[in-house]
Formats: sequence, structure tokens, C-alpha cells
Amino acid sequence: MGDILKDKVCIVTGSTRGIGRAVAERYASEGAAVIINGTGSHPDDQWMEDSPLKDSLYPYYFDIADPSAVRKNILAIKKRFGHIDILVNNAGIESNELIGMISRDNMEKMFRVNVFGMIEMIQAVCRIMEKNPTGGSIINIASVVGLYGNAGQLAYSATKGAVIALTKSAAKELSPKGIRVNAIAPGLTDTDMMRQTNPDMLKDRISQIKMGRIGKPDDIAGGCLFLASDASAYISGQIIAIDGCSLH
Ligand code: NAD
Repeated sequence: MGDILKDKVCIVTGSTRGIGRAVAERYASEGAAVIINGTGSHPDDQWMEDSPLKDSLYPYYFDIADPSAVRKNILAIKKRFGHIDILVNNAGIESNELIGMISRDNMEKMFRVNVFGMIEMIQAVCRIMEKNPTGGSIINIASVVGLYGNAGQLAYSATKGAVIALTKSAAKELSPKGIRVNAIAPGLTDTDMMRQTNPDMLKDRISQIKMGRIGKPDDIAGGCLFLASDASAYISGQIIAIDGCSLH
């Protein structure tokens, strides 16, 4: 337990499980009030009830791909807490198909959540953040496949490439207003999403990790803590890969 994020109000989208949950727990353990978000369509939020950090976790379930739900919930959070200091745009979905098998339906679903939802979260939150005397930090979760590409992930990697580009543009527009915007590009990380990956693709990707192991959600949470804290006060517009040094 520490106090690096004491008095900070942090929103972590997609934090009912996986990487988002690890980020939320890390932030709460450093003194933040953390908004937990997810679609609420799966029973993976019991951990909150059992958590010693329970009193610092505030569930707000909404679909980030629904613009009116985003606006409504962000306003409700502002009303309740008075300010929003950190936004981690982590919610994302993945659908892996070879080029010949990609469907319009899956592409649209991924772009709606991974890109449009992320942009609309930034829109809604930055209006509130820019009024903070101490500024704010937005952290977008991209992926190494958005940096380097991957066979079988054309559409997903395109959404993550968009996350990288929009991070750089948002940083240019929002840094003058005191809002830093950065992205983390995780490599393969041990979550439910990773377990959906085709075993051959998984084997191939693991073989490329120089540190010899798959990432843990906590490895990504460490980077998110750094980007939320004053230790990164002069960093904006950057993409940090957390991937155990993969061969690309
Ligand atoms: P996960 O599937 O385990 O968890 C995803 C979370 O997002 C869940 O809480 C889910 O409820 C939420 N979510 C999904 N759609 C949503 C929506 N429309 N609105 C609100 N919440 C929604 O995934 P994860 O592995 O923890 O991935 C988190 C992020 O990290 C994603 O953006 C993913 O693309 C990225 N990422 C993951 C890996 C990996 O190997 N696991 C690698 C690189 C990048």
C-alpha cells in the first residue's frame, strides 16, 4: 500500500477482469478512488466484493461503444467525485481471422469498441480533466500488433494501429491543456483474451519473447502506474511497449 495516487479519481475501462482489473487494483492500492467499468455481461466481478480495497472501487457498468451511455456515466462520475484525474482506456475486444475470413460484422464491432469508444471516452473526460488545476493523464491500451502487425490479426491490429495514431494526435491537442496522453502497447499477456488465441499462433508468439515468459497483467499495471504518476510528468505522446523484449 502506498500513496502515489492519493486523492486521485481514476477511471479504468474494462476493469472487471484481466489487465484492467490489475490496473484498478494497483491504483487503489496507491490511494486512488477507482471507477470499475465493464459491459457487466459476465460474472467476473466477484473479486471486488472479496477485495481488501473494496471501499476504493466504484462500479459503473456501461458499454463504452454506446456514446449516450458514455456521456451519461461520465457526467454522473463528475457529479459524484467532483473531478477526474486519470483515464485508462483499456476496454477492448479481439477477433482473429485470416484475411480471407474477416467479416464486416467483426470488423465493425472491434472498431466500435477499440477505436470509436476510446475516442468518445477521451472526448467526454477531457472536458472535465482540462479544468483540473493539476492536469490529468490519459493512458490508452494499444498492442504490439498495432506497432508491428501480425498474421491472422489484420483487423484487430488495424484498430490498435489507430489507437497509437489517435494517442499521438490527442497528446498534441491536449498537452497544452495540461492533459498528458500516452499509450501502452502490451505484448502477449495472460488474460481471458489471450486464452482465446489459436494455440499455434500462441506458440509462435511465445517463442519470440526474449525474456522467456508471457506477460502478467501486473506487468502492464506497473507501466500504467508510472504514466499516471508524477514520475512521468514530462512524458506525453509516447507509446511504451511492455512485451518482455519480443522479436519483431
Ligand atoms: P479481457 O477480455 O480479459 O478483458 C476485457 C475487459 O474489457 C472486460 O472487463 C470486458 O468487460 C471489458 N469490455 C469489453 N468490451 C467492452 C465495452 N464495449 N464496454 C466496456 N467494457 C468492455 O482482455 P485483456 O486481455 O485484459 O485486454 C485488455 C486490453 O489490453 C484490451 O484493449 C486488449 O486489446 C489489450 N491487449 C491485450 C493483450 C493480451 O495478450 N491479453 C495484448 C495486447 C493488448
